[in-house]
Amino acid sequence: MNGPPLRRTSGAVRGETILSLEGITRRFGDVTAVDNIDLAVRAGELFSLLGGSGCGKTTLLRTIAGFETPDSGRVILDGQDMTHTPPYERPVNMVFQSYALFPHMTVARNVAYGLRQEGMARSERDDRVQEVLSLLDIATQANRKPDQLSGGQRQRVALARGLAKRPKILLLDEPLGALDRKLRKRTQFELVNLQDRIGITFILVTHDQEEAMTMSDRIAVMRAGKIQQIGPPREVYEYPNSRSVADFIGAANLLEGEIVAAEAGTATVRLKATGSVIETVSDAQLVRGDAVTVMVRPEKIQTGGGRGTGRNELSGTVRDIAYLGDLSIYHVDIADGLRVQVAIANRLHTDEKPLTWDDTVDLSWHPGDGMILTQ
Ligand code: ATP
Repeated sequence: MNGPPLRRTSGAVRGETILSLEGITRRFGDVTAVDNIDLAVRAGELFSLLGGSGCGKTTLLRTIAGFETPDSGRVILDGQDMTHTPPYERPVNMVFQSYALFPHMTVARNVAYGLRQEGMARSERDDRVQEVLSLLDIATQANRKPDQLSGGQRQRVALARGLAKRPKILLLDEPLGALDRKLRKRTQFELVNLQDRIGITFILVTHDQEEAMTMSDRIAVMRAGKIQQIGPPREVYEYPNSRSVADFIGAANLLEGEIVAAEAGTATVRLKATGSVIETVSDAQLVRGDAVTVMVRPEKIQTGGGRGTGRNELSGTVRDIAYLGDLSIYHVDIADGLRVQVAIANRLHTDEKPLTWDDTVDLSWHPGDGMILTQ
């Protein structure tokens, strides 16, 4: 996606709050789809709403767009209360997963549609259409109909149409959902570059944690109508605030245990399943006897000789192996009810003695690589 940069239109300075949601609740009969959500999105951010099916992310996005009216709460866009403002009067545009292109119109007319509705003069409209088509690298397809385009090109037309009115915020509902895996990966990077260049705030809904991690400045992880955690990708991955976030973002070993000592920034935990003692760097307020979960990501675990301290060392049997090319994932049975996942990078072209099924393997990790979770 090349072409000239689209002029920035928002009055908000990059980094200032451009959208505030205050206590938004939306119910459908007995279902509370969005449950008292507060959220502030900054101008120029690529912000993702991430969560499993039915967690309320689309309803929240539609509330920002004006397609849903909340039962309670306020939507403040660029300083103005727009809770009851209809969608077409809001400075936002939405790109739908289905793209919702008009099949009988050419690409150029699809992109011009919103501008025509707005009553924009012909010459200005033509210039604007040309501008967004070249921005998205689809100027040569201007006279084609949607069914004469590839999936990736259709996706760009939908984006071009979303950007043509120069919204302050572009709302994207699973925008890459219809693309195959390879194109999806490439388009993720292209979208990030495009957003960075034009500086328009993007709010993206996705159920794909890898997509959210790749693209976002910040992610809001949603569950059952609530936001569980908001932060940059690295923060939600390395420092999840709950078992469910740890489990949803990436793979996580969640080891149940009990605090046996907590002092000087280190928590010592006895694992329920094995009685082994685990040390974890933690400044949480913990006391002896507290039930906790120690989270360790699979790639933080080493195989082979431990550090010989007897702490953060477990021994088990390889039960399953998934060879993924760049990585191998091993499922290691430690004890009844305790299976640990280990990810090892396949650094060498040939491995003389790879781990195999039923091998006994020693596992260890550094105390700083675990994380104590209490909820
Ligand atoms: P998905 O990824 O499956 O689209 P989502 O996180 O976007 O899920 P929502 O579409 O926001 O979830 O739906 C949240 C909840 O609200 C679900 O239980 C859904 O069935 C319900 N819901 C959403 N829209 C309506 C509606 N118009 N009428 C009744 N229930 C609805």
